[in-house]
Amino acid sequence: MIKLHDKFFKPFIPAKQIDEVMQRLATEIANDVGDEIPIFIGILNGSFMVVSDFVKKYPKPCEVTFIKLASYEGVKSTEDIQRLIGLTQDLTGRTVIILEDIIDTGNTLAEVHRIFKNENVKSLKIATLFYKPEAYKKDFKLHYVGIEIPNKFIVGYGLDYDGLGRNLPEVYQIKQTQHMTNLVLFGPPGAGKGTQAEFLKEKYNLVHISTGDVFRFNIKNETALGMLAKSFIDKGELVPDQVTIDMLNAEVEKNADANGFIFDGFPRTNAQAESLDKLMTSKDSQINAMIALEVDDEILVERLLGRGKTSGRADDANESIIRNRITEYYNKTAILKEYYSAQDKYFGVDGVGSIEDITERLSAVIDKL
Ligand code: AMP
Repeated sequence: MIKLHDKFFKPFIPAKQIDEVMQRLATEIANDVGDEIPIFIGILNGSFMVVSDFVKKYPKPCEVTFIKLASYEGVKSTEDIQRLIGLTQDLTGRTVIILEDIIDTGNTLAEVHRIFKNENVKSLKIATLFYKPEAYKKDFKLHYVGIEIPNKFIVGYGLDYDGLGRNLPEVYQIKQTQHMTNLVLFGPPGAGKGTQAEFLKEKYNLVHISTGDVFRFNIKNETALGMLAKSFIDKGELVPDQVTIDMLNAEVEKNADANGFIFDGFPRTNAQAESLDKLMTSKDSQINAMIALEVDDEILVERLLGRGKTSGRADDANESIIRNRITEYYNKTAILKEYYSAQDKYFGVDGVGSIEDITERLSAVIDKL
């Protein structure tokens, strides 16, 4: 991953692949041109690398020149018109091949056709390394296309983001989500995850998703999801993975612009952890840490029975259901410590003490990430 100005970019097309495509274009064009000596015209600034690599691979005599796009103020002061400048050569009767780094909307191409209309060239052909079919809004024929790419912002190999990135030998794509801090708050029922999440989300400007809270909200509103979840929750069992995973994904999507998330009560199984990794990858992001609140079982039971007196939660009211939730934790959830330890992302924190002390212990871990 690289950062240019304020934005993060991820590797997209390696130098080797670009090299192969440039070779293919050079061979193809040389075959089509035959014995004529073509004039290759690059459009600055972006195409300097394309032109340089292309002509080195071109197996026969050729001429090379450049034109440049310059901004002119339009009739209205807000209107910015791009004009091509620098064409000084007589091109009458010549085979001209425009070499472009990228064709997206096709606006530059329209400008190319405008200035070549009166040049009396023998033929005008367009070659481009990259082409964004979804963005292209014109009808001009593209004679040679290197690689079709999706409509995402790219840099490298001549292409820039506000001046930077042109010198990179490979191409990078802008990251889907720029930079997120994603934490899994972990620990048995009653460890204090919900309480701590409330403080941490304010402090670090993160979105807190508690799967238990989302289930309870659905139960209160008697949704189909709520009805389904209730039968498991009331017994202190886990809700089936797919139901929980789908719900979690939907909650993350609702907060697409978040700086990051605190996942509280999720993941609780290996399948959930794997699906969370996939979800984060699809956002070009990752889980940064699992922070576990470590508390003895007997303290948990005591805390939950105490909470049950006021919380109105059926699963807090009865000691055997509480013990079943703790058993579920050890049987199904505790293994996730290994899952995250294997990625060097597990951080254990003593969960016994005052709320403020525990917040400080958690913050100390987060601040070092
Ligand atoms: P909590 O509020 O986190 O203690 O969750 C209360 C109950 O909701 C749990 O005992 C489970 O029945 C259910 N639940 C919450 N999160 C999950 C999850 N990630 N996977 C399965 N069940 C869950």
